[in-house]
Amino acid sequence: MPRFRTILDTVPAYKPGRAVVSADGRSYKLSSNETPYEPLPSVVEALAVGAREVHRYPDPAAVRLTEALAARYDVPTSHVALGAGSVTVAQQLLQTVGEPGVEVVYAWRSFEAYPLLSDLAGVTSVRVPLVDETHDLDAMAAAITDRTRLVFVCNPNNPTGTAVRRAELEAFLDRVPENVLIVLDEAYREYVRDADVPDGLTFYRDRPNVAVLRTFSKAYGLAGLRVGYLIGHEPVAAAVRKVMVPFAVNSLAQIAAIASLKAEAELLERVDTVVKERTRVREALLAQGWEVPPTEANFVWLRLGEDTTAFAERCAADGVAVRPYPPDGARISIGTPEANDTFLNAAAAFKSR
Ligand SMILES: *Cc1c(COP(=O)(O)O)cnc(C)c1O
Repeated sequence: MPRFRTILDTVPAYKPGRAVVSADGRSYKLSSNETPYEPLPSVVEALAVGAREVHRYPDPAAVRLTEALAARYDVPTSHVALGAGSVTVAQQLLQTVGEPGVEVVYAWRSFEAYPLLSDLAGVTSVRVPLVDETHDLDAMAAAITDRTRLVFVCNPNNPTGTAVRRAELEAFLDRVPENVLIVLDEAYREYVRDADVPDGLTFYRDRPNVAVLRTFSKAYGLAGLRVGYLIGHEPVAAAVRKVMVPFAVNSLAQIAAIASLKAEAELLERVDTVVKERTRVREALLAQGWEVPPTEANFVWLRLGEDTTAFAERCAADGVAVRPYPPDGARISIGTPEANDTFLNAAAAFKSR
């Protein structure tokens, strides 16, 4: 038998999700926080042109996309690092700090990739329980030891949708030692409407140990192409670039990301529509008698406890795929009005069962 790392014994094998279809053939995917909109015609057009060049390797440094992002956020190009989705950038970050004995602190429940990527990087996860479905920044600061090298703050938090506010985040950043990297994972930043939820880039500018993760997968609608990025000071961005697998960001992803930045205004209008639907869905759930944490992302969270699996099955019967995290709860992405209405009917039926 070939020998493998022992940690792999604890990593579950990937289980493909089955397609959810109702008896009358309806199917709505509200399980992955994708945008319900197809790519813009201008993006599809750019991809069609780019498709004729795929016999060539991509630009390994993604110079044009890096320059476009640097211009968009008014940062030096040396502060930008890319990856095949921000999940991969998170993996690259963990590779830059990971060795035996190193600790990585994050809230729990939070993004499901953090434990997996930490295990694979060979670091020790320190999970700090949420309080009221939101980050407990005091407890997270207290969990930092001299073995801690990285802290993830997922803002807004996946899967609960809750966000930490400016004053509490700033107080937390002040407490974290300067040799600990704080990664503000802002995959849902474009969906934030509470003016008191800070843009992480305002903190990164004068704090060399703060970096921001963003992605083209969610609001920009490019989940299938895999491109995300980090903005951080030069030592951080340079380390992340060093551990990138060569050519990880493919040429079509680079082209689509550049086209999406050009079409940003149009894409952000769609985000507005999703945010309006988010308000409608949350209010309808509250009216049905559910407790729904306030959400700044494109999903809602229901703490269902032992009912989590039964709830997901009830939704599936109506053709709605949600994301169950038993035994905690379920996350439901905001989709088209029709998908949301179908979900709301299933939720009402479950409530009055
Ligand atoms: C979706 C998501 C990401 C981004 O995923 P990619 O598709 O890899 O860019 C990153 N962080 C969180 C918290 C997410 O929910």
